[in-house]
Amino acid sequence: MSRMEQEPDESPTACSSKPSDAQTVEVYDARVGSLGDGLEIRRALPLKERRLIGPWCFLDHFGPAVIKADDAGMKVRAHPHIGLQTVTWLVDGTIHHKDSLGSAQDIRPGQLNIMTAGAGIAHAELTRPGTLRAGDAMHGAQLWVALPRDKSQMAPAFEHHARLPSFDEGGMCVTVLTGEYDRERSPATVHSPMVGLDVIITGAGDRRIPLDRAAEHGVMVMEGQIVANGVTLVPGKLGYFGTGCDHLRLQSQGPARLLVIGGEPFGEEVLIWWNFVARSRDEIVEARRDWEAQSERFGKVPDVDPDEWLHAPAVLPAL
Ligand code: MN
Repeated sequence: MSRMEQEPDESPTACSSKPSDAQTVEVYDARVGSLGDGLEIRRALPLKERRLIGPWCFLDHFGPAVIKADDAGMKVRAHPHIGLQTVTWLVDGTIHHKDSLGSAQDIRPGQLNIMTAGAGIAHAELTRPGTLRAGDAMHGAQLWVALPRDKSQMAPAFEHHARLPSFDEGGMCVTVLTGEYDRERSPATVHSPMVGLDVIITGAGDRRIPLDRAAEHGVMVMEGQIVANGVTLVPGKLGYFGTGCDHLRLQSQGPARLLVIGGEPFGEEVLIWWNFVARSRDEIVEARRDWEAQSERFGKVPDVDPDEWLHAPAVLPAL
């Protein structure tokens, strides 16, 4: 992580000029991993230095990658979740989602899947045979949203949104993935004040995105390079902008694409362990035990052999 001062730019109103807010622009390095088949992921949340941005608690940027063989792509075997919502957003390629509610849904570029785990759900994300060929691209993001305590045990749910509010605005195309932006509201069901935007910048220029001052925000570049409120961001970096920012000033030398996430500071401590978001170690131990026992709590993902399930690691005493 590098802590960066805001450059003394021509835009002093971007964030509050109060001295106490001068340190609230930070840039972190995402952790780099792989989902197999050469599909690189950059995990921008959670990081040691930053666990949450608003309710957002997990951010994986995968690809862009070129599929090497027919039917390669994503192979995430059946696994459980509790206490969160997963948000899947595709720029390129296709993924097939199956869950223990019986949902079976291909997601394609420009579409959003949002799955509410609540008390417990299981799902698998696999590229369906015949839907990706060698040479096709795969590119997208998966994020998690922590559910507030009073919703953390709610019934699981799954929504697919084939169309989202999207509009062109002075050399930008903004798509509202979750929450609300400029009076446009995403149809995705969420449970706390937050926003998620996909922003395509069509060419060199200087743009502004108004922000909710009560919220903190994160910016992750998916393609290209931008300067956001004075800091340079490229894929693999997470820009963090604390509360009190009126807007994001986005300067670019060419086309770029980014995700903007934000929300009011969550105000609750959460434990993030494996695929679970919880409030206590006991809650995690119980969820792990229920999953390993294949209890009805998580149900069954149709057409997935139990041998194809992901097993949970041991819960360390220190957790
Ligand atoms: Mn998952």
